[in-house]
Order: sequence, then structure tokens, then C-alpha cells
Amino acid sequence: MQSELSIRLNEEGYKNWVKAGFCLQKIRDCLLGFVYTEMEKFHQRLLQTNSLLRKICKNSCRPQATQFQRACSLCEEWKREILTHHTNQNNVIYWGNCSPPLWPIHAWEVAKVYMPRGQSNRQGPETCDVAALLNLINFCDQFDFVERQKVIEVIKIIKCRNELMHSVEMRVSAKWLDNYRWKILEFLQEFQHIPEAKAANKMIKEIALSNWQVQITETDTVDALKITDEEINADLIFNAELELIREWVKELCFTMEEQEVLHIQHLNSLKTFKEFLKQNKELESVLHQEVEHLYSLEQKLKSGMRTVNDQGGEEWNLEEKEHNNCKDI
Ligand SMILES: [Zn+2]
Repeated sequence: MQSELSIRLNEEGYKNWVKAGFCLQKIRDCLLGFVYTEMEKFHQRLLQTNSLLRKICKNSCRPQATQFQRACSLCEEWKREILTHHTNQNNVIYWGNCSPPLWPIHAWEVAKVYMPRGQSNRQGPETCDVAALLNLINFCDQFDFVERQKVIEVIKIIKCRNELMHSVEMRVSAKWLDNYRWKILEFLQEFQHIPEAKAANKMIKEIALSNWQVQITETDTVDALKITDEEINADLIFNAELELIREWVKELCFTMEEQEVLHIQHLNSLKTFKEFLKQNKELESVLHQEVEHLYSLEQKLKSGMRTVNDQGGEEWNLEEKEHNNCKDI
């Protein structure tokens, strides 16, 4: 396993991609405690200022995706209150992220309303990705004390995160990584009142600039995997890599499900991923669940025979599309 990891990390573009993902995970980790504490405060404030919100919905109200039409009067009150504290009233709200009967009990069920889709199984900040936490900071007015300049930094990091997750090749250039490193450091500078952000700042500086030249020693054990310039445990990198791939696959599945058609970008990402797994057999079993979900989704969409050219919006039949797709690459 170490030798395959070593080969992967010695490929420049892929290594940059993993490094960027690693830094993103560090940002997430350093925000966990801060965001959790603020959401507890927010929840307490809502319950104290509006006594109706303390009552529990007995109707098992259940929203679907962005729709929450049949809400009982208690849930309607919660909806109104939640929207009052949203910083962008015109934004699409993913009501389906949460279970409304839990709103009076769990602060995190309320927090999820301010996040992107796909959070329904997340029960606390530690299970959320960085995009979820940054969107929460951006859209919930509990974080109004965060200065405007800091919010701009938050938005920049969300943009970088999306570029990383939508990278068809699972690679980024050295220039992109360098640019991203500066944005992250600026972002963390704005959050230096959080002790964990200081530690993350130091680690990110070191990681992004490190060579990560991987060498396997003769004993070929985990400890023998040396990352030059850095004393970083190989397991730490492997786990960060797995987390990044899982998030990348999850993001791909979301866009395929949401758009309900296979775009050229989806097909290219699928092609990259299949090739990647072919060269890294051990990852196929580790990522078994994600791979199964992705492939079944691909089959489902292919059986619908709907594919769309991103440029022209033109629909092709499957054979023609696959032929053209091969030519593009
Ligand atoms: Zn209800």
C-alpha cells in the first residue's frame, strides 16, 4: 500500500491536489469548536426570545430538498425565525437537510438550514465538510460579528474548495496551489482569535511548501515512508487523501443527481476516476461504498439515455457521446 501511495504522491499534479485537500481539512478542523459554540449560543438566543419555539412538533413534519410546504404552525414559526436570521433572503434553502421536530432540541438541526444540500445525516460539526461550515458562517447572522472583510475571505475559500472538488483530473497546478495557499493564510489571519487557527496556520505553511518527496525504505513499513522536509506520518496523509477522494466522489454524485443528466464534465470525471482506480487497486476496496454508489448512479443515468454537451446543451445518444468523449481526451 505504501508503494502505491508513494507513486501517487510523487505525481506532481495529484500531490498538489492532495496537499490542497489536506489544507482544507485543517481549516475545517480548526473551525469546529468555534462554529459549534456559536450555534449553541444562537439556538439558546432563539429559544429565549420566542417561547413558541420551545414547543415540539408532533406532526413529524418532513421537508423535501428545497421544499417545506406542509409545515405545522410550530414549524412555520421556526421557518419564519430561521429566515429572519438568513443573510441572503433570496438564497435557495435546503430545508431537506434537517428534521424540524428536532429544531427545539438540537442546535445543529437549525444550523443545517444555512448549509448546502446533502447534510441530512450530519449530526454535528465534526461530520460536516468545510463547505458546510463556511456556508453557515456566511449565511447565518449569528456570525455578523465577523467583519465584512473576513466574510470575503470565507467566500474566496468556498470558491477554491469548489474548484478543488470539481477538478476533473483530480489534479491542480503548482501555481493554483500557491495562489490557494495565500488565500488560506489570509483567511486564517482573520480568525486568529481562534487558538486552533494559529496552529493550523503554521501547519498549512509547512505542508504547502514541503516537497513531499516520498521514499520507501527497505523495511517498507508505515514508519519507513519518509516525506522529505517533513516528519509527517504516512497514515495521516493517506487518511487525508481518502477523505478528499470521498468528498470529490460525493460532489460528483450530487451534481449528477441534481442535474439528472450526464454532462461531458461528469463523463470525463468518471473516466479519470476509473483510470485512477485501475492504477490503485487497493483504493477500490477501501472506497467500495462510494464506488458502488457512483457506478449505480452512472448506470441509472445512462439507462435514461440523456446526456448533455456542456457547451451547446445539445443532446446526444449514448454511443455517439462515448465516442466523442474519447476523442476529447
Ligand atoms: Zn411541524
